[in-house]
Amino acid sequence: DGGEGVLRLAGVTVRFGGITAVDQVALDVPSGQVVGLIGPNGAGKTTLLDAVSGLRTPSRGRILLDGADVTARSASWLSRHGVRRTFQRHQAFGWLTVRQNVLVPLEWRTRGRGLLGDVLGLPHRRRETGALLERVDEVIELCGLSEVRDVNAATLPIGQLRLLEFARAIVDSPRLLLLDEPTSGLGRRETELLSEVLLGLVQRHELTVILVEHDIDFVMGLVDRVVCLVQGAVLADGTPAEIRRNPEVIAAYLGS
Ligand code: ATP
Repeated sequence: DGGEGVLRLAGVTVRFGGITAVDQVALDVPSGQVVGLIGPNGAGKTTLLDAVSGLRTPSRGRILLDGADVTARSASWLSRHGVRRTFQRHQAFGWLTVRQNVLVPLEWRTRGRGLLGDVLGLPHRRRETGALLERVDEVIELCGLSEVRDVNAATLPIGQLRLLEFARAIVDSPRLLLLDEPTSGLGRRETELLSEVLLGLVQRHELTVILVEHDIDFVMGLVDRVVCLVQGAVLADGTPAEIRRNPEVIAAYLGS
């Protein structure tokens, strides 16, 4: 049965030489669900996102997207099919403005690689079409970046760079959004803004989210479900309330 799951992981294992970073993970994520992925350092959270986003091919197991086997698909194929992610270290182009940075993923999809080169090579040429820029400005506004819209990314403080990373990931209306520690470097107000934007997106669209995060209050307040990974394997999977009182999760990660 393919079920209705946007994402299905079956026995996904990722090894680096002798290290098993992800160990036979099975997970079904239905459409529109927001899943928090927690666990101690080195638990395999980032590696699991890498596998789902096509940056690493699992050593074993299968990854299904809308019922189709995408285990061997490339990151660019998955990106074109609605899987978007952010990284712990932002990927913004420092020499482009905030607006140009947010435009890049849209250009990539709507106009192809050749034109992307134009954008990168000629950052100040006004060649963008109205519709794309409208979408870009809408997302910039949503992410609280309007005031720095025309500022080069390299000059932004870390909090705004993280928000820019997020803006770049959502501008193309992904179906599956993978966020790797999106609140790291954010202040309280920026974290609240991120929560609001994310919840708004999930409510208005059928956005499915997997969120890797160490800020437990942020995770627990935002997600439908929490999966706790320890040494590459799923230790617990439940609602935020269930996970908070799970003795194994407390012992392995949350503390008392
Ligand atoms: P953190 O919370 O610190 O970001 P994590 O849960 O995201 O940790 P991963 O970064 O996925 O954990 O790492 C899982 C395991 O895989 C660790 O033991 C790590 O050392 C190992 N690992 C990750 N990437 C590589 C790599 N490229 N080569 C070898 N080992 C790796």
